[in-house]
Amino acid sequence: MSNHWGSHMLNEVIGILNREQVFELLGKTRTQRIVLEMLSRAIEEYDCNPGEVLDGLGATLGLCHYCRSPADTVVAGLCQKCRAEQCAGLVLDRHPAIAGRALPVIESCSDPFALERWALLAAKGTDADLLKELGLG
Ligand SMILES: [Zn+2]
Repeated sequence: MSNHWGSHMLNEVIGILNREQVFELLGKTRTQRIVLEMLSRAIEEYDCNPGEVLDGLGATLGLCHYCRSPADTVVAGLCQKCRAEQCAGLVLDRHPAIAGRALPVIESCSDPFALERWALLAAKGTDADLLKELGLG
């Protein structure tokens, strides 16, 4: 059971610092280091949820909440590497019959928005839907 209240409070505090342009004064690298330090302490000492702490802020700050690393492109909270791993995991788990065809497409994709779409479809769609979206159907 994670500390949702603490996660949301820290999200709000980081959001206020962002809104007031404190992070622009610090610069991107220093901001990422400081926010990652706050995130680590929030997780390890206060049982906070990293996705909730960085909710809505990951893309702005260039931080992936899953691997807790800086990333050039963060879409819906995840960097491209984590999104590709999530997408591949969903395909292996829910679409094993087409995994052999789908995984090479997913693993070679460098478009984080496509990977997000495919992950959503892999979670909810049929094998045929996924093959069509991947350009294999
Ligand atoms: Zn990541």
